[in-house]
Amino acid sequence: MSIPTLAIVGRPNVGKSTLFNRMAGERISIVEDVPGVTRDRIYAHSEWLGREFSIIDTGGIEMSDEPFMDQIKHQAQIAIEEADVIILVTSGREGVTDADEYVAKILYKSDKPVILAVNKVDNPEMRSDIYEFYSLGLGEPIPVSGSHGIGLGDVLDEAIKHFSPVEVEEEDDIIRFSLIGRPNVGKSSLINAMLGEDRVIVSNVAGTTRDAIDTSFVSNTGQEFIMIDTAGMRKKGKVYENTEKYSAMRAMRAIDRSDVVLVVLNAEEGIREYDKRIAGFAHDAGKGIVIVVNKWDTLEKDNHTMKEFEEDIRSEFRYLDYAPIVYVSAKTKQRLHQLPEIIETVSQNQTLRIPSSILNDVIMDAVAINPTPTDKGKRLKIFYATQVAIKPPTFVVFVNEEELMHFSYSRFLENQIRRAFEFEGTPIRILTRRRK
Ligand code: GDP
Ligand code: GDP
Repeated sequence: MSIPTLAIVGRPNVGKSTLFNRMAGERISIVEDVPGVTRDRIYAHSEWLGREFSIIDTGGIEMSDEPFMDQIKHQAQIAIEEADVIILVTSGREGVTDADEYVAKILYKSDKPVILAVNKVDNPEMRSDIYEFYSLGLGEPIPVSGSHGIGLGDVLDEAIKHFSPVEVEEEDDIIRFSLIGRPNVGKSSLINAMLGEDRVIVSNVAGTTRDAIDTSFVSNTGQEFIMIDTAGMRKKGKVYENTEKYSAMRAMRAIDRSDVVLVVLNAEEGIREYDKRIAGFAHDAGKGIVIVVNKWDTLEKDNHTMKEFEEDIRSEFRYLDYAPIVYVSAKTKQRLHQLPEIIETVSQNQTLRIPSSILNDVIMDAVAINPTPTDKGKRLKIFYATQVAIKPPTFVVFVNEEELMHFSYSRFLENQIRRAFEFEGTPIRILTRRRK
């Protein structure tokens, strides 16, 4: 459910983002037209020896108007708050600096495991440069070279030792969801209004090592929900919580823990880059998505308002054409009572399983309407399709040659599958495999 998190800290220019990018690898985004999702990433998923984890590059969370030392202090605090294991990066070329000592001291006082990486050790002759780093009191320094990709395995081996054993994912019927959106769109107001409608059975669900406050409630239909808190939502105040990068990182972490994500927009302001970026992350992560347009009470409406709004949303979030849109007001409570039911439906759609025989009927009908593409005289042949996963529903289509499956044809198959089955609110994935 919640995967371990590594945070990278250290003074500027030691090579944090270089290491981050190496560790994050090149994860190919399924969404091609989402600007900003892969550009300046500070949060990513990765895997080492079969263990999944997430990584945060705290160096990317900059507070532009802060003095240098405060800046790195806050980055270290974020790491302590968010991570299970911290990697302190230093540079073998410059040796131990005052700033290294300052960060090391902050980390030393926390009870989080810290791995000391000495970067820019590009060749074996430089390995003797690492000994002075013992003075930081964080144990054995590990030589690495981000730009040459040396030593990363040693760091990750060490990190994995500190991860707690893999939890067997508990099968429960509880639906976990989060509200994601820019400051002031009304997330807190929506939460309070929603909780006002339903019966709160437990608040402050423990179970996370972080300071997130999740809330559990039961809807009128008897469904249990857990609302995942994105810190800074109800507990505001820390300096760095106002930065967009920090809130984006928190949002991504909340998305990771959710089954369904409510992307909250402000009817008065329309859609911004940040909204697209966060929604793109939820889509890539395969989560259920509902678009919630809040502050609907503030608009002068006529017969076209809703339709125009929908057109705007559909053209801005092209890849989210499957997500239902709900127009609500936290203030007047208009349509709020619909939300739990919609979340429940989307969650069910995420776990829908289509029997192969029915799926193949749909695929064969699709091929009959729109013949498979050809390339250099060769035609794509589809032999068989089967669903291999849920959350999100994932289909494998067996073909004669994978290269013949164009993006547009795969998209067409997706649309036909969507027409035949109830997948509203969930991304679906179509993978192509060559039949052996
Ligand atoms: P950050 O500020 O800590 O995120 O550092 P960056 O990752 O931006 O790297 C700062 C500079 O150090 C860049 O010019 C990198 O190319 C360089 N750099 C990063 N890793 C290495 C390394 O392993 N060896 C050498 N020689 N240079 C590196
Ligand atoms: P958050 O930063 O996303 O958690 O946003 P808040 O819940 O703190 O709301 C920001 C501001 O918008 C507050 O002044 C709210 O009273 C106001 N607000 C929230 N929802 C609505 C709404 O549906 N209609 C109107 N008119 N104002 C709202």
